[in-house]
Amino acid sequence: MQKINFNAGPAQLPPEVLHEAAQSVKQYKKTGMSVLELPHRGKEFLEILEESKTLVKKLCGIGHEYEVLWLQGGGRMQFCMIPMNFLLAGKNAGYIDSGHWSHEAAEYAMYYGNAQILASSQDSNYSRLPDWPQIPSDLAYLHVTTNNTICGTQWHSIPKTEVPLIADMSSDIFSAKTDYSRYPVFYAAVQKNLGAAGLALVVIRKDMLGKTPVILPPMLSYSMQAHENSILNTANVFGVYVSLLMLRWIDARGIDAIEKENIRKAALLYETIDNSTSFKAHVTEKAHRSLMNVCFTAVTTEVEQSFLAMCEKNNITGVKGHRSVGGLRVSLYNAVTYGQVEELVDLMKSV
Ligand SMILES: *Cc1c(COP(=O)(O)O)cnc(C)c1O
Repeated sequence: MQKINFNAGPAQLPPEVLHEAAQSVKQYKKTGMSVLELPHRGKEFLEILEESKTLVKKLCGIGHEYEVLWLQGGGRMQFCMIPMNFLLAGKNAGYIDSGHWSHEAAEYAMYYGNAQILASSQDSNYSRLPDWPQIPSDLAYLHVTTNNTICGTQWHSIPKTEVPLIADMSSDIFSAKTDYSRYPVFYAAVQKNLGAAGLALVVIRKDMLGKTPVILPPMLSYSMQAHENSILNTANVFGVYVSLLMLRWIDARGIDAIEKENIRKAALLYETIDNSTSFKAHVTEKAHRSLMNVCFTAVTTEVEQSFLAMCEKNNITGVKGHRSVGGLRVSLYNAVTYGQVEELVDLMKSV
């Protein structure tokens, strides 16, 4: 029996997507081959790739001024590639440290060059967003993490800035309406809202490609990856295919409807926590709360343990907090239904 999966990533995928992916593992269309056997430079995969790129641009409301890349190495590889491509000698990059991932992104950049943390909420255990700092106008780029997966905060709006904004959208891409054209570069590890682990979606404005240094090994260069249409080496054919199925699923629903549902799911869960005597929200500032990852604690470790055991008994999994912070966390990505949140909330009320 399929469990209700509230894990933060790899996350729940819609049953329709799993079904179609499973069919295609047996045979892709009428090719007589599994999707796992498709040549990465063959007609079928090129069609998968083209449709995925078209759908990403459609869903983001952006045009041919952007390139869409599917790169291996997940989110962290992007923590490396961004400074390698854009943090050149003599330049500074700014990082907004609103959570564990943003912190790690800044640390990775420090291997390559002059990366500065301009604002941090680490001293509050990332239970709130930092105040937006003064942004030096000569930065090579400013890096933000739009949703903080581990501690459950989210930037619901990001102040205007003159410097190029680079965003890690791993845990909230396509979850709500947003102006993607503000970001010359944005990226997402796909295992949260967008598919099977092992890939990152990277969307990059073409003028940024001109800034990448020629001395980089091609695999690590955005301009070379764009030049080679993300198939510089053997592509992750299956990963891109599953992401395409997710993109079709998102497109069929529409971002407006997805956003409404995400707001409804999060409201139900936060309301339950706020009205409960057994649980307490990690993020008290309501305007900072994430719609995607809801972090909370139980009043005692006994209550936490018994609640986790209750969840498992009721076929609900993925409610334990990240290993670095403990407590409880429920991820409400697009594939999670309102009905599943209702089931969880009923259990919480019975604690
Ligand atoms: C999950 C996550 C990552 C890391 O992804 P990996 O693919 O495991 O490297 C990076 N940033 C954010 C915001 C995430 O949620």
